[in-house]
Order: sequence, then structure tokens, then C-alpha cells
Amino acid sequence: MGTEARVYFASARVLKWTHEESLPGKLEGLLEKAGLEGRFKKDDAVAVKTHFGSHGAHRIVRPIFLRKVTDAVGRTGAAPFVTDTVRIKGLEYLEVANSNGINHLSMGAPVVLADGIFGNDNILMDAGDPLGQVAVATAIHDAQGMVVVSHVKGHINAGYAGAIKNLAMGGISGSHRSCGWKCGRGSMHMIGMGQFNWDADKCELCYQCQEVCPLECISFPDEKFSLDNEKCWRCGRCVRVCPADAIEHEGADDETFMGGLAAAAKTVLSTFEPRKVLYINFLLEIQPECDCMPGADVPVVQDLGIMLSDNLAAIEQASMDMIAGAAPLAGSAAEGLETGPGMDVFKALHNRPWEIQFKECERLGLGTRKYELIELSS
Ligand code: SF4
Ligand code: SF4
Repeated sequence: MGTEARVYFASARVLKWTHEESLPGKLEGLLEKAGLEGRFKKDDAVAVKTHFGSHGAHRIVRPIFLRKVTDAVGRTGAAPFVTDTVRIKGLEYLEVANSNGINHLSMGAPVVLADGIFGNDNILMDAGDPLGQVAVATAIHDAQGMVVVSHVKGHINAGYAGAIKNLAMGGISGSHRSCGWKCGRGSMHMIGMGQFNWDADKCELCYQCQEVCPLECISFPDEKFSLDNEKCWRCGRCVRVCPADAIEHEGADDETFMGGLAAAAKTVLSTFEPRKVLYINFLLEIQPECDCMPGADVPVVQDLGIMLSDNLAAIEQASMDMIAGAAPLAGSAAEGLETGPGMDVFKALHNRPWEIQFKECERLGLGTRKYELIELSS
């Protein structure tokens, strides 16, 4: 059992009507288990890396939980700041954070964009194959510690989205001043020239692609699709929302994409000393899609709880194992889907081999998939 990593777990079920038994109370208990005093020291800048959501995606990690994290980090004498990278225009993204309840007052700590208000405050680092150079957000690159606070959910390309994706897509900017999207998170989504093809015969001129584009890259002069190649970050949202499959792009195959996620996560983590990064996965409001999308569908499985570990591959495997054991919820996108051994709810929804992410993490030295689950007892 010596090779198993510890993953602490607090169930979302409330069996006693006490604060300790509430989920915020249990998070306090989990944070005590984390031994933060031994990890962070006075004046360490500690990034609390989360996802701010989007205008319509409200199922993010709730401010009440984030505040517990910043308070616990702050008690060590370190200086926490809550952060994410720019996903839409930076100043607008800060407004999204504020409207989702994440601001300096609610967090008791600064809320900053890790790559600046224009998303180009980043540092090029070599991520090896298959990505090459990636633009790591400066505030994450330069921080002494990090708590990776992830909302676990499904994802159209990754199948499962948790801490690996939070680090990989969330620790890297959309673009770099010199090498553009090719050093940004779009390099995980797309390969080659990142070419788009538009099929006029299929297009219904619904303009959803235009509406969803965060950078206003798409226009329809004379009812013909036009894309600003220089501005586009290759975020893939336009392709995702098209109801007619009228936009095609050069996407990476599953193996390349998942390998890219793991390689990017490793690069983001490479600037931190051992024991300086902690992971907290929230298995709550587990919706089918990414928090970047313009809306959030209802959860596909019941709320499960919160996990905490300092082992990336372990917490991801433990999170997915628990989701795989949960029943699809009636009235959700998963209603009626066949799940069972070898077919979890995310595979049934997205048909992606999510386990490649975890295996690649393990291969790259980012933890072990063998874990011991320790449930917090009240
Ligand atoms: S991939 Fe599509 S939605 Fe994303 S920036 Fe480019 S044009 Fe806009
Ligand atoms: S979302 Fe698809 S169908 Fe709608 S306008 Fe864009 S390309 Fe055409």
C-alpha cells in the first residue's frame, strides 16, 4: 500500500445538522488535513487557480468554497490571490468573475488575471512533444505556491475535465505576442495551420458561431462565413455550437490532444518546488460541458463531494472512478444512457478516451493513479 497516494474525500451528503457536517464545514476539515503550514511560508504568493465561468455558465466552484481556501492559505502567512487566464476580453472576464460572485471582497484576496488584462502577459516555455513552446501565464509562473481548485465536469474533447485541464488550458494563455495561438491553448485544440473550412450548403445562417466567438473574429459579409485568422485563438467554440456541422477545423486526434493536456500541465507545474501545489476537486454540479461555454446544462450525476490531494494523477483517477460509479440523473443529458462496467457517463456522452490524460500524467511523473481514498469522518 506504500505506493498509493492519499486522496481525502468529503461527501456531499449531510447526515447531521451541524456546521462540521455541512460541505463548507467539511472543506475546512479537508484543508486541515492538507498541512498548509508545512507547504506555504510567510509572504509566499499562492495562486488559487480556478475557472471564473462565463456569462451563462454559473456552475463553477462557488465563492463560499473559494473563500475557505483563501482564508486557510492566508492563515499560513502566505499571500493568496484568486486567478484564471483570459478566456474572453480580459476586462469583460473580470466582470464575469464579479457577476459569478468572485471579487476581492468575497474572496478576502485579490482577484487577478494571471496573464494580464490583454492575455499576453506570459512566458514561453518548452512543453516538448506534441506542443513545442507554450505561453505560461506570468502570475502562475512566478508564484511560489498554488492551490488548483477545479470544478469537475465533462468536456467535448477531453471527455473528463478536472485538475489536468484546469492546469493545461487554464495555466496557458490564449495567445502569445510573437507566436500567437500556436503557443497558446489553441495549440492543444488544433494542429497544423489550424485551418477552418465552412460548408455553405450546410450553413443555416443562424449566426450562433458569430455570437459565441469571444474575440469577435467571425462575420458574414454577403452571407458568407469570414474569419479573422490573426485574431482567432482557436478556442473551438464556434465549431462546438454550430448546429449544422458547417464548420470544420484541423483538430488533434484524441491521443495527441490528451497528451498535449498532460504535457502542458507538466510545463505549468515545472516552476513550483515540491509540495508547493495542492489540488482540490469539486465533484458538484457535474455538468456535461466545459465552464467556458455560454451556458451550463443540468448535472448528469448527483453531487458527490470534494476531494483533496497533492497528487495530480491520483485525485483525477479518484474523481473519475467516483463519477463512473454514479447513476445518470433523470432529466439530464445523461438520462437513459447505458452505463456500467467500461462505460461511464462521460464516455456515454462524449465518447472520448479520457484515461489517456491520467496515464500520460503518470508517465510524465505527475503522480500515480494508485490511490487510497480517505473519507473525512465528522
Ligand atoms: S475558434 Fe472560433 S470562436 Fe474561437 S476565437 Fe476563433 S473564431 Fe472565435
Ligand atoms: S453556427 Fe453554423 S449554421 Fe450557424 S451561422 Fe455559423 S456556420 Fe452557419
